[in-house]
Formats: sequence, C-alpha cells, structure tokens
Amino acid sequence: MINNIIYLDNNATTPLDERVLAAMMPYLSERYGNPSSIYSFSQKIKMEIEDARDKVKDIINADEKDKLIFTGGGSESDNLAIKGIAFANMNKGKHIITSSIEHHAVLNTCKYLEKFHGFEITYLPVDEGGIIDIDFLNKSIREDTILITVMYANNETGVIQPIEDIGSIAREKGVVFHTDAVQVAGKLTIDVKKLNVDLLTMSAHKFYGPKGVGALYVKKGTKIHPLIHGGGHEMGLRAGTENTAGIIGLSHAFELSYENIEQEQLREKKMRDRLEKEILNKIPDVIVNGNKDKRLPNTLNVIFKYVEGESILMLLDSEGICVSSGSACTSGSLEPSHVLLAMGRPHELAHGSIRFSFGRFNKEEDVDKVVKVLPGIVKRMRDMSPFGRGKDEFWKT
Ligand SMILES: *Cc1c(COP(=O)(O)O)cnc(C)c1O
Repeated sequence: MINNIIYLDNNATTPLDERVLAAMMPYLSERYGNPSSIYSFSQKIKMEIEDARDKVKDIINADEKDKLIFTGGGSESDNLAIKGIAFANMNKGKHIITSSIEHHAVLNTCKYLEKFHGFEITYLPVDEGGIIDIDFLNKSIREDTILITVMYANNETGVIQPIEDIGSIAREKGVVFHTDAVQVAGKLTIDVKKLNVDLLTMSAHKFYGPKGVGALYVKKGTKIHPLIHGGGHEMGLRAGTENTAGIIGLSHAFELSYENIEQEQLREKKMRDRLEKEILNKIPDVIVNGNKDKRLPNTLNVIFKYVEGESILMLLDSEGICVSSGSACTSGSLEPSHVLLAMGRPHELAHGSIRFSFGRFNKEEDVDKVVKVLPGIVKRMRDMSPFGRGKDEFWKT
C-alpha cells in the first residue's frame, strides 16, 4: 500500500522505484551538461547514455549493430515504428497488417495512415481467448504488404500473442515486423533474436521508471524514417537534446526489473490467481476474460454480469482501491472495450469489465482487502440495477 491506497492498476502505470529516482537525481541537478557538447563534463554524460543504451540492448539480446532509439514513451515509439516504416517503404507498397485489439497508439496511427496517406490496413480478428488468427494472417500477406504490427501482450486482458510464430512468418515473406511490447518489457524476458522481430516498443513508466520516456528497438538494416527532424541525435531517428535523466531512469529500471524476474512473476501470479479464485468462489455470474494459459502473470480481467464496470470501479475507489475498467484512455467515455468486443463479448458485457493488475509493491493483504469488499459492492449494484439478474431479458449471454 502506497499513499494509503491499494494500487491494482499497474498496467496503466507503475510507481517510480526509489532506486530509479536516486539514479536519475544527478541528471536533474549538477549533471546538466548537453550530451552533444564536446567538453568532458558533457562527454561523460554522453558516455553514460551510451552505456544505458548498451545495457538495455544486452538485456533484450540485441546485436551490437542493432539500434535502440530513446523516445518520449510507448506511444511515440509505436508512432515512430509504424509511420517510420510506412513512409520509408511506401514505394514498395501501402498495405499494413495489424490486429483488432491493439493499443490506441497503434490503432489510431494505422487509422491515420489509412485516412490521410492512402494506406490499406488489415485488422486481424482474435478468438474468444483474445489470440490472433494465424491462418488469417498468413492469408492476408500480399505483394504490397510492408509491415505487420501485432502487440506482444494486451494491456486490458494480459493475453500474450504468438510473437515468435508471427515473426517467422514475417521473415519468410520478407515483411517488416513490429511488436508493441510495452506490457511485456520488465514482466517477461525478451529476446529479440528468438522473437524474429524487427522493431519492438517499450515504455519506462510501465516498469517502475519515469513517465515520458520509452525506447524503440530497430534491427540493423531496417529502412525507417524519423518522425522528428533536427540534429542528428539518436542516430538521426529522433532529433532533440536527450532526456538524460529519463534515459538513465529507463535503463536502470529495466535492469532492476530483470534482477528477480522469475521470483517476481511467481509472487504476482500467486496474488492474481488467489484473487481470481476468491472472486469466482464468492461472486456468481462472473466471466474471466482472456486465454488463461497465455496470460501475463499480473493481470486479471473480469466481467461482473448485470452491472456496469464503471460503477464497481467507483465503489472500489471509495474504499481506496484503484482498478481500471476497459482501457485507461477510453474510461470516462461510454464506449465499451474494443478488445472485449473483438473477443466476441456482446456490448452489454463489454461494459461490465474490471481489470486488476498487480505489481512490485503489492502484498497479499491487498488481495484480502479486495476480497473483503468486492462481493458486497457487486451485490449492492446488482440489487439496485434495473437490469439486474432475472429482471430483464436484456441480459442474454
Ligand atoms: C501504456 C501503453 C502504451 C503507451 O505508452 P506511453 O508511454 O504511455 O505512451 C502503448 N502500448 C501499450 C500496450 C501500453 O500498455
């Protein structure tokens, strides 16, 4: 528990680890030199940025000649990957394949290319468990396909895609492959060689680093244009004086995440599984979303039939418990989750989902507290609802 709240929304963002903050502090005060300046005060900082880059590259098993571009976050990395590949390769073709369950940073970038630059986009369907249709992918690849972009794990459900298989199909057909690995970076080990990816997105604030800094892995030889033009920073792919503290923070946070990765996965999985079991035991008419065998160890997405997710979220909030309904970007609007709709959930059910996402600072007591209050909250909401169980034909499943 931090700030007297129980924070179960670690897929939205994570708190900055105090060890990361400590590593960043010098770069926010006395070590202010511009890394591009040539006196040693600055050149040392430049070298530390390069060390940070090498550290991250090492952890993801990148080749020495591969690039790792520091960006302003996950959304920027996704934009750089997709628009950068699209604009550099549009002479070869204007067809892009993505999935129907991507984060909006990917979906809306594809929609922009479709609407304003004449690209054609194929949106791959998913099965009931949230996994993309590989056959459909195979059949969708055409002569003019220049990019496949499919996320590694979904932020709402935690469902993990068969990235290795998609990557080998892309390699075989000679199509560039990008994956948004924001929900995987810091949670599962990443090996870019084994995954057969050409580009991979990560974001520091999803693994206990600072907000507003991310990275894009770019395999050597990949033809890509920059989004931000200016000086030659980041190998000409992202102009602008480096966010020194952010970059050091990202690299330090990334390294820390992998120190006890297997132990931490098990610790979070144990809490998640206990919460899931208790919910299913204590509350009737609950659906767990997402393929249970192919799911991040920290994520639980559930539908409480006959109630709105937002109402449960608000009552949990009044108990000091932070969770999400749908994705953070769309909550506040009444749009049901595009991810759950793609998984075939009807509109009325897609409205009733709650995401619990565990992280480094959660304890078993957090589960106890949720288990203590949640059944009462759901029951109260159901009793009040005009659409409650047995009250209306509206609730067909
Ligand atoms: C959070 C998130 C992003 C966006 O990252 P920002 O650093 O917040 O821009 C992109 N993709 C996924 C899957 C995410 O969970």
